Amino acid sequence: MANDLRFQVVGEAFKKKPLDVKAPSERPCEYFGKHVFNREKMYKYLPKDVYDKMVDVIDNGARLDRQVADVTHYTHWFQPLTEGTAEKHDSFIEHDGKGGMIEEFSGKLLVQQEPDASSFPSGGIRSTFEARGYSAWDPTSPVFIIDDTLIIPTVFISYSGESLDYKAPLLRALKAVNVAATEVCHYFDPAVKKVTSNLGWEQEYFLVDEGLYAARPDLLLTGRTLMGHDSAKNQQMDDHYFGSIPERVAAFMRDLEIQALMLGIPVKTRHNEVAPNQFEVAPIFEDTNLAVDHNMLLMSLMKRVARKHGFRALLHEKPFAGINGSGKHNNWSLSTDTGVLLHAPGKTAEQNLRFATFIVETLMGVYKHNGLLKASIMSATNAHRLGANEAPPAIISSFLGKQLSELLDHIEKADKEDLFSMDGKQGMKLDIPEIPELLIDNTDRNRTSPFAFTGNRFEFRAVGSEANCASAMITLNSAVAEALASFKKRVDEKISEYSEKSEYSESSGHSPVYHAIIDVLREDIKTCKPIRFDGNGYSDEWKAEAARRGLDTETSCPVIFERYLDKESIQMFESLGVMTKKELEARNEVKWETYTKKIQIEARVLGDLSMNHIIPVATSYQSQLLRNVERMSSVFSKDKANQLNARNLKLIEEIAERTATIETLVEELVEARKVANKIADEHQKAIAYHDTDSLSD
Ligand code: ADP
Ligand code: MG
Repeated sequence: MANDLRFQVVGEAFKKKPLDVKAPSERPCEYFGKHVFNREKMYKYLPKDVYDKMVDVIDNGARLDRQVADVTHYTHWFQPLTEGTAEKHDSFIEHDGKGGMIEEFSGKLLVQQEPDASSFPSGGIRSTFEARGYSAWDPTSPVFIIDDTLIIPTVFISYSGESLDYKAPLLRALKAVNVAATEVCHYFDPAVKKVTSNLGWEQEYFLVDEGLYAARPDLLLTGRTLMGHDSAKNQQMDDHYFGSIPERVAAFMRDLEIQALMLGIPVKTRHNEVAPNQFEVAPIFEDTNLAVDHNMLLMSLMKRVARKHGFRALLHEKPFAGINGSGKHNNWSLSTDTGVLLHAPGKTAEQNLRFATFIVETLMGVYKHNGLLKASIMSATNAHRLGANEAPPAIISSFLGKQLSELLDHIEKADKEDLFSMDGKQGMKLDIPEIPELLIDNTDRNRTSPFAFTGNRFEFRAVGSEANCASAMITLNSAVAEALASFKKRVDEKISEYSEKSEYSESSGHSPVYHAIIDVLREDIKTCKPIRFDGNGYSDEWKAEAARRGLDTETSCPVIFERYLDKESIQMFESLGVMTKKELEARNEVKWETYTKKIQIEARVLGDLSMNHIIPVATSYQSQLLRNVERMSSVFSKDKANQLNARNLKLIEEIAERTATIETLVEELVEARKVANKIADEHQKAIAYHDTDSLSD
């Protein structure tokens, strides 16, 4: 019976035709950003006086009458501490105070709104403070339009000022790295005004036909299959990667791309991934804040478009055991208003030294906070993927490649006289060998590295497919900001020390600035060496070696979250103004609670499937066998019947034994849950959910 249904569903899936996706008549560059409401767009589409008003709203918080054609609703769009985004829709219609209605959109509404904060997780902040929170427009991310709704990206904060979302701390971290990096840039180029953090994400996902999806309550309720066995054919032929994209999927992708482009998401690549029905979409990198918004937007767009095409998009990090999971590589770099900072060395000694400085200080940040960075990407779902012989291990390390490693070794060890010469600009030649084709093949040689340098950026690969990139970006940018600020402080101290010494005087041709930079860099290259690892991250030797190096090798998700409350983490976030201790504590409560809930739901679904799906099917099969045995006995002689029934009788017995075992295990599971649920402390409860054998898979 169950089989019949399955064949029916699969049959239906095969019969479905790809949707006819009509490409817009314009070229992509013409419809790109069509549904984004930026200044340029406003200028183009709005009458002059309305445009002036809108700009006035943006710049001065003035009042605005609604004059946008077709747009009848608006919403503040924010990123609460759950997955995904939240919206509060409102119509533009307001009471006019005289019993009628007016269509109006006030600047005040654009700038600030009060969603009912009590329904979003806050880790207890709101109960201790004010009961309400508010959302406020983030003018650095453009307003966009979906259907008839104007969507306004906002931060979400409590009345007492604590952030209740991902965007507020992200904006603060980006500001911190801008300030710290700009100051360091001034050693090399006083004209630099601003440093931007860039993010280019690569979103992996699975597509499943909606019929097949509906046949799996576990997939439906938990995002992954909790039971089953390996398919006879999965990815062992290695024939799926970059394989031809089936028609229905291709139609889905075309549709997704068109809609993403209209929303101003610069999607660029699409291809198949390693596992069957696994795919990837990636845009061109953007400023980190915008890239995060665009990723959140793309994830929800993907779900909508998938439904339209009769699919479900699975964003879970590990929907199916036995085949690869999904990640979201975060390609990260810093650039100035005058150029890229992490680009392979340039022509001048100054450029080379600046390049080395930013590489080394990034490594310093990653080294000092490697445990925290792991916490920033960890989740109940990503835990299934990390270290599973396909994704980076649950240890943060950085791959630099041979050439960059040699460059750092050279700066560390070369005779200082060789690094400098009297005739160079600023008294410096920096005998750094030219690195022309830096890391051309880097991308493929280090799939196992969680944080790999790939020519002009670092690729943070441990991030999970379902995650909000902001979590990783808050920590990474803060860690780098802190490292750069510490670098600057130590360099400045050395500069004043060296300025007193005659051998460093400008007149002698040596620059105290460059001597100071080189000396601090040499210290730091030594300090952060343990984070550098170019070998095989999957190997057991690496786990042992990483532990010897003092890197964080913890694998328990609820324990890893503790890193947010380490002294060094609190110190870093507070000193940069990114998050307070109170916010960090509240956020951890949310993380632990979310972890518990996820495992709890999985445990419930597993129990339910076992008792209400598996056992009834097994029992009905058993009854069928019993009837068969009875009938065989009625037609054959006793001896013959005994002989013929032997196999079925054995099966009947086996089913009885196995269903009894299943029942016992489910009872144990329920009991274990009851014990864990009694624990009041969220932290300890999450640990119990992780450590109790019958609860964790
Ligand atoms: P791969 O699969 O080889 O990693 P992709 O082309 O799929 O390459 O993705 C690379 C991502 O890195 C894209 O989003 C791209 O825009 C981004 N990227 C390229 N250069 C930079 C940079 N300097 N800073 C940040 N992201 C970058
Ligand atoms: Mg990549």
